[in-house]
Amino acid sequence: MPTPTIHCFSCGAEVPDIEGPVHRYLASAPGCWAYFTEVSAREYSDINYVRCHQLTVDAYAVQHPGQPSPQSIQSVAVHLASLYMVVERNLQAREATGFIQQLSQHKAAFHWLEPPENKGSITVVQVWKTENVQAHLQAVRAWAESAWLAWAAHHEQVKEWAGLVG
Ligand SMILES: [Zn+2]
Repeated sequence: MPTPTIHCFSCGAEVPDIEGPVHRYLASAPGCWAYFTEVSAREYSDINYVRCHQLTVDAYAVQHPGQPSPQSIQSVAVHLASLYMVVERNLQAREATGFIQQLSQHKAAFHWLEPPENKGSITVVQVWKTENVQAHLQAVRAWAESAWLAWAAHHEQVKEWAGLVG
């Protein structure tokens, strides 16, 4: 029998209805977190995928913001800023990790952003389903754009925070 599915309460993806671990503050259904772990493992297993991994983490983090806490406030702020830099400012995804490290030094400036109800039409599932490098990289890019657009109400604030990195 096929595993029953549910919709992740945070990103809306259709995921297996399973028990399992979830991240400490990136709140998701266990089946959604399982997809993310498998996508991450794929990206680490092959040098062709590694360059998009930061974008994968960014998109997943902002689609699963969780509840307000110092960690989640910082997570949403830096991952949205990274998406902004890559999607709108053409920063290379592999350079985004350094950008996030620099921006994290300004965490005192961040505050909680109320997450949008709809967090984007593309989720980790579309990436998980791809079967080759090219399709995977394209799906991650589309996912990142979708996640960034979903937070449009906060774009001006995020751009201001991104500007803290000189
Ligand atoms: Zn999810």
